Amino acid sequence: MSSEDQKSIEKIISGLDTEFLTDHPMCEYCLGRLLAKIGTGIPNEVRGAEVRTHTQLTQIEPEDCWLCDGISGQWSRYASLVTTKLSDWEYATYLVGSKFDPEIIEKEETLWTEVSGEHSEPIKAEFNREVGKLVYDMTAKEVSFDKPDIVTVVDTMYDSIDLQVSPLFIYGRYRKLVRGIPQTRWPCRKCLGKGCERCSNTGKMYQTSVEEIIGREVMKHSEGIDHKFHGMGREDVDALMLGTGRPFVLEIKWPVKRNLPFDEIESSINNSGEGVEVSDLRLSDGKEVIRVKSARPEKKYRVSVSFRGQIDEEKLKEVVSSLGGKTIAQKTPNRVKHRRADKTRARVVKTLELVSYADELATLELVAEAGTYVKEFVHGDEGRTTPSIAEALGVVCKVEKLNVLEIRDKA
Ligand SMILES: [Zn+2]
Ligand SMILES: [Zn+2]
Repeated sequence: MSSEDQKSIEKIISGLDTEFLTDHPMCEYCLGRLLAKIGTGIPNEVRGAEVRTHTQLTQIEPEDCWLCDGISGQWSRYASLVTTKLSDWEYATYLVGSKFDPEIIEKEETLWTEVSGEHSEPIKAEFNREVGKLVYDMTAKEVSFDKPDIVTVVDTMYDSIDLQVSPLFIYGRYRKLVRGIPQTRWPCRKCLGKGCERCSNTGKMYQTSVEEIIGREVMKHSEGIDHKFHGMGREDVDALMLGTGRPFVLEIKWPVKRNLPFDEIESSINNSGEGVEVSDLRLSDGKEVIRVKSARPEKKYRVSVSFRGQIDEEKLKEVVSSLGGKTIAQKTPNRVKHRRADKTRARVVKTLELVSYADELATLELVAEAGTYVKEFVHGDEGRTTPSIAEALGVVCKVEKLNVLEIRDKA
């Protein structure tokens, strides 16, 4: 202890109300915390010994302490409890927190009021720091105050450890090579997941989803308890997702493992024969969920269209070239009106090309602004989208197939 620290400590001690301290015998840790903010690098028990000798108090062991009831100084015992609990989990960063008997916290407040709270540190702060340091020594993992992988909360009343395990985020891109699979789990509308006649007791509208196909494989390796899928938009259930795929972040709740064999997971999913492929898997974070959810990328589509009645190929070519680059007005489509606000949106169809016209089936490719309802641009949605291909051709158009070819999420 520097002589300067020594002097300031002595000065404060001489101003303390020793009557309260005599009537409420405390251990050196608890006495020392009264001066915790004076000087640096001195353990509280050393400060406490100073207080005791200068005020001629009797030495009290923590287990007989009026305030802490034996908790002080037990740092390594608590640290062992924490590391034992942590040993079941994979993590890179942690934080130690604690819960105390409310009676101890009340006594501490009384002490501050009666003696001095000006230079003192709460018992909780000392506990978290001292136990945290030992856990660091024992595990060689990093402390994180900001976003720890695991928070351990020591309940000093019951010597038990509660864990809060942060989710694991995995970024990737998916391709959907079969129709009829929704992007995310879709609970049965009638029973909301409980199981009923309509869903043959599966609780689902669709038996599987992109989320479940990817989630199952990631869960196998991460040993989490649940997953949540965050896609950069979504395609219709009956549309394919081709090209380089659609970005997503999969969130795994309570993962036991965090170092995942991404190559192995990719090939298991890609070889499962379920029509979903993934690429670019890597670790991600909550920030990327926000980026992925709020991105507004242009998309390229391929759409097959049939017509009711004869059409002239020249006329089709004219219509296609006249609509490329046009801004269209789209009222909320009939098919989603029940769950979205009914309003009109302006969207730009950046390019539109006729790839082929054969056997009365036209194949078109278009690049459209984020949020464009492509099917409605084709069939016009009973006049709710205008202009549309159907409107310009003057015949009823039907979308036979829709594929997303590209999501242009990077400049
Ligand atoms: Zn004590
Ligand atoms: Zn049901």
